[in-house]
Amino acid sequence: MTEIALAVENLSFAYGAKKALDAVSFKVQSGECTILLGPNGAGKSTLFSLITRLYDAREGRIELCGFDIKKQSLQALARLGVVFQQTTLDPDLSVTQNLRYHAALHGIGRKAADKRIQEELERLAMFERRGEKVRQLNGGHKRRVEIARALLHRPSLLLLDEPTVGLDMPSRQAIVSHVHDLVSQQNLAVLWATHLIDEIAADDSLIVLHKGQVKASGKLSEILHTTGWADPGQVFQKLTQGSQA
Ligand code: ADP
Ligand code: MG
Repeated sequence: MTEIALAVENLSFAYGAKKALDAVSFKVQSGECTILLGPNGAGKSTLFSLITRLYDAREGRIELCGFDIKKQSLQALARLGVVFQQTTLDPDLSVTQNLRYHAALHGIGRKAADKRIQEELERLAMFERRGEKVRQLNGGHKRRVEIARALLHRPSLLLLDEPTVGLDMPSRQAIVSHVHDLVSQQNLAVLWATHLIDEIAADDSLIVLHKGQVKASGKLSEILHTTGWADPGQVFQKLTQGSQA
């Protein structure tokens, strides 16, 4: 079953005179992990700020599961889970307290919330750490808690902004494989921003963003087939050459 979880159409955004996104269009399907690949400064976080409505774009359109994020923002945002580039957990609260707070913001009652918290933490092998203060967790475990939190209200689309930066290799691999499991088991749509090509799996979709423009989009296998390039590394190099990243 393929549904369009996210449709971005002709989206442009500037910080003052600095253009950060230039007529960006793409779609993200449910049941797929779509990698938003671009060097530092490409516009990935700006795009996420527009999808989450931290900023509003004057030009272009964003739909989440068919809901326009400006005209039907409540319905649209209810379907969205986000892990931002910077950690947004409260370090002085326990894992459970952080998650309960998020559940309350989404209008989930305490009993239902505790059940969902247990389910998501168990899936990430973090349930036994639930009473610890977030401050005591390492970077990889904090990220897992953030992913659990983003999934509590059962979103259709999960946005992850460079979720593995600064983590050691085993933590990175655990997160990559956990997210891919979610996609295949739950028909979730994932948009994963990264500049790290080794996080891309063979059956992922790819959107290559460079200087605010989409340089390629589609299934990785199709991009490799049509261009004749060997691997995601070559795609990245060919399409983003001339950047400082
Ligand atoms: P990425 O997440 O891909 O590294 P960003 O979306 O953070 O890229 O940045 C895109 C461009 O917009 C960069 O040139 C960056 O310097 C610029 N930019 C980002 N945030 C701001 C801001 N708050 N004010 C001005 N320029 C910004
Ligand atoms: Mg960024």
